[in-house]
Amino acid sequence: MRQFFGHVIDGEEVPSVDGGTFEVWNPWTRQVWADAAEGTAEDAARAVTSARRAFDEGPWPRLGRAARAAAIHRLADVMERHADELATLDTTNMGKPYAQSMHDVARSVSNFRFFADHQRDHCGEVYPMDTGHHTYSEYGPAGVVAAVSPWNFPLMMATWKIAPAIAWGNTCVIKPSEDTPASVTLLGKLAIEADLPPGVINVLNGHGTPAGSSLVADDRVDRVTFTGSSTTGKHVMASAAAHLAPVSLELGGKGANIVFDDADLDNAVRWAVEAIFRNSGQICLAGSRLFVATPVYDEFMARFIEAAEGLTTGDPFDPATRFSSLASKRHFDKVSAYVNGVDLDGGKVLTGGIVEDGRWLVRPTVITDLPLTAPAYREEIFGPVCVVNRFDTEDEAVHLANDTRYGLNAMLFTENLSRAHRVASRLRAGTVWVNCFFIRDLRTPFGGVGDSGVGREGGTFSREFFTEPKAVVMQIDRGKQEVVSDRSRQR
Ligand code: NAD
Repeated sequence: MRQFFGHVIDGEEVPSVDGGTFEVWNPWTRQVWADAAEGTAEDAARAVTSARRAFDEGPWPRLGRAARAAAIHRLADVMERHADELATLDTTNMGKPYAQSMHDVARSVSNFRFFADHQRDHCGEVYPMDTGHHTYSEYGPAGVVAAVSPWNFPLMMATWKIAPAIAWGNTCVIKPSEDTPASVTLLGKLAIEADLPPGVINVLNGHGTPAGSSLVADDRVDRVTFTGSSTTGKHVMASAAAHLAPVSLELGGKGANIVFDDADLDNAVRWAVEAIFRNSGQICLAGSRLFVATPVYDEFMARFIEAAEGLTTGDPFDPATRFSSLASKRHFDKVSAYVNGVDLDGGKVLTGGIVEDGRWLVRPTVITDLPLTAPAYREEIFGPVCVVNRFDTEDEAVHLANDTRYGLNAMLFTENLSRAHRVASRLRAGTVWVNCFFIRDLRTPFGGVGDSGVGREGGTFSREFFTEPKAVVMQIDRGKQEVVSDRSRQR
């Protein structure tokens, strides 16, 4: 019996108005294992109506901050109780190793806990003035948030948006990717179990068009937060612009990873492997362009290739598995097209390549000698494909790293303290990791430069986006105001 994932609207799991569904695949077994509701424009409108009502008439935006934080912690508790189920859904749905899905669930729980506490404990600002007034700031909820998320971290990316949105008193409609509807639909149901008021978290399933596009175009939506490809991000921004909804866009990447000749090579190899092969390279932050200093090039490459070849590949539910298939046939075809183009462009595949046995599997792949104009060098592949170049000087490394339309993140490995700070500051990227990768503090800004996005989220950056900051100007000394106005009249 195949499972069914409906929409979650107004506190209930419901099918599409017209009863439409689509198939949900398991990329490891290449079997259909579930069906999901195919959202139409009417379903999108229904979900926004529910969020609108919950915001305009429901208790959520009017709850005190401590009560709201407590409710969100309750949801986090319920998620912890269902951690295995959530992780199982993500692994079944997109093929990532189960241990990594459990890691994503833990991070999703901490997204809720962090933003619950962050809004509960936040302070506004006070601006003392010379005129006999002071002004203070207030951060009120913005309204209805439309959130659209991708398939590579199905639960985690959705919660990264939902958690700050609801913590700041908004209500939301989340549209997960059509490739991975499962865990987010369960999350919507867990919100009901955790007693969140109906309509605070609505889940709209379906494809980008019509479900996603109708959602972001709805003029009853006050904020649009989107994670996905740069191409879709441009459509989303244009659509939101028609009703002047502010957007936050977290888009594609082509991360540079620079290994200097004084790097700790054990550490650099370990993180270089994680950076491009974790989640089978399906990470916006992947270190897909690797630049290695000439003096350590041969040694680094020998170790890097050995580590890449040593990754245990297999069934994502096998605890030994570190590396598995790509998330869908469509994505496998896309990654394969890049790998197949390498020879034609004059590049060399040192290890890896496509597994030609019908599975949707591309081995950890390392490529050299590609011209800097080749598509595999310039475009986001979003798979386990690393393009390597050598460099001789620090300037050359910085120039190579910055020579991209993307600017989501970069990494650098060096034991030279001054160089670490100097190069970090010259890299055009939203996040720079020095001697590490993937470490996040939820208070810090997260986002990208150029084609990698618009805006930042995290900590107070999320607060700015998900609220309407208000300036309240208080008169505290009328006499002083009259003196100051008098003076300004004299000028
Ligand atoms: P995608 O752009 O194809 O789809 C993302 C989401 O947008 C899906 O839910 C999809 O249904 C929806 N969508 C598609 N067309 C739409 C439209 N016209 N209007 C509204 N919604 C629409 O991206 P994807 O393939 O799911 O995800 C991979 C991409 O996401 C990669 O480029 C990756 O780098 C990026 N990503 C970025 C970050 C980040 O934080 N910067 C994180 C994860 C993934």
